[in-house]
Order: sequence, then C-alpha cells, then structure tokens
Amino acid sequence: MFMGTAFGELRVVVTLPWIGSLVNEIGKYRVHLDVIVKATQDPHFVEAKPSMILAVRKADVLMYNGLDLEIGYLPVLIESSRNQKIQSGMAGNVDCSRYVKVIDHPDKVDRSMGDVHPFGNPHYHFSPKNIERVAAGITEVLSRLDTGNADFFRKNMAVFSSKLHGKESAWKAKHFHGKKVIAYHKLFEYLAADFGLTISGYVEPKPGIPPSVAYIGRLIEKMKEERIHTVITTSLYPRKEVDFIADKTGARVIVLPHDVGSMPEIVDWFTLMDTVLTRLQ
Ligand SMILES: [Zn+2]
Repeated sequence: MFMGTAFGELRVVVTLPWIGSLVNEIGKYRVHLDVIVKATQDPHFVEAKPSMILAVRKADVLMYNGLDLEIGYLPVLIESSRNQKIQSGMAGNVDCSRYVKVIDHPDKVDRSMGDVHPFGNPHYHFSPKNIERVAAGITEVLSRLDTGNADFFRKNMAVFSSKLHGKESAWKAKHFHGKKVIAYHKLFEYLAADFGLTISGYVEPKPGIPPSVAYIGRLIEKMKEERIHTVITTSLYPRKEVDFIADKTGARVIVLPHDVGSMPEIVDWFTLMDTVLTRLQ
C-alpha cells in the first residue's frame, strides 16, 4: 500500500503504519516508502527480522515513534544495518516524538515491573495537534534531504494542514464530556484529553503488564461503584479478561483501531481518527 515504484527518489523507512500515512501525504509518489511494522503487530512487542534490516540498510531516512516504543527491535536494526545515514544524531535519524508535547511524563524513568511507557505516553498519534506538528517536522526533514522536491513537499503539507483543520471542526462536534470508560491499555490518553473522555481505569495494571485475577476483581468492583458501562480495547489485546469484565458488569465492549491498516476501511490517518471517534459515539 505504501510502496513507491519510481527509482532515484528518497528512500524513507518508517516503523509504524500511521507514520507511513503521514509520509505518504507529504512525499506522495516522490519518495520510496517502506513500513516495517504491520498493523497486526503490537507495536510494543515487535521482533527484529532480516527483511527489516535490509530495508533499514538502504534507507536515506528512518522515521520512528520514539519514547522507547521501538526499544525492543529498532536499536538492533540500526546497528545491524551499518547504515551511517540513519545512526543516532544523523540527519536521517528522525524520532517523531521530538515534535510532540508528551503527556503522562513520569518524574523519573521507571521500568520496574516492565512498564512499557518509561518516558511518558508514546501513543500521540491520536492527537490532531501533535500530528500536525509531526507532519510539519517530516516535511522539513524531507525538504532538507531532497531540496529539489522541497516546494512539492511544502505544498502537500499545506494541503494536509487545511484538510486537518477542516476535519478538526467536524470532530469538535464529537465530544465525550462526562463519559467514563475503562481501557485495556494506556493507548487513548491523548484522544481522551482532546475530546473530553474520562478513562477511569485500565485492564492492564501497568502498560504492558497482564492483569491478575485479584486485580480484575478490584476493577469490576470499581466499575460497579462508579457506574462505568464501557470498556474500550483493540484487536491486539486478548478478549478473555475483557469478556469476563463485560459479563460481570454488563458493560459493553468497544473495539477501536490502534493504527492505520488495522481495519479494512482505515487507509490513512484521517480514516483512523474518523473510525475511532465514530465507534466511540
Ligand atoms: Zn503503550
């Protein structure tokens, strides 16, 4: 879906599908794009594969989510690629979180008990404001590395921005003030902050940590006490606990997409946001 066909253009490798979607919006057919993580994979637990090393080896620029989301595979890919252009500190190494206002920022980095969000919440792709900053950052990187196409990239960014602002006006009609939900993972915190949703608890006791029976019991009590009737999850997470909670509390379960490509109708970042907001309503 995101593969370029022409030759001679900038080779862009991205980790996650939503980053690929932004590169597509800005670079279109004038960049060669490889997306190395599939929408069927949990972005926290991806394993390095030889095909990924091959893609990274040929890259002019590598763009990734950052905040340690890719800690399990990206450092080894970068090292094994022996590609100078995309080493840390080089112009071709682009941590997209550098453009973002991070939330859930901890006072100190703490990986104890396996918390997979040690530098704050990494799932900023559900925030329109942050996405616009990331897209602008991508535009500047591409323009610097391929000056001949800089005007083309900047024009596409202007189109992207105006489409985004139009969508934001439409999305403003969707607000969830007063609505309380339980979420499987700390995935929708940026969206909750922007759209007035209250996430009162999590099926995971800490991001990346499966719940114990006792923990689930306490969560069910909390849901009954606070009259919380909705659980949000994604297709990446097991249904066993979610269905058990729904059975005990009568809550309904809403399955949301986590990234571009995770449902057939989600072909880009805009349809990702549209689908999440529509399903939540
Ligand atoms: Zn996470």
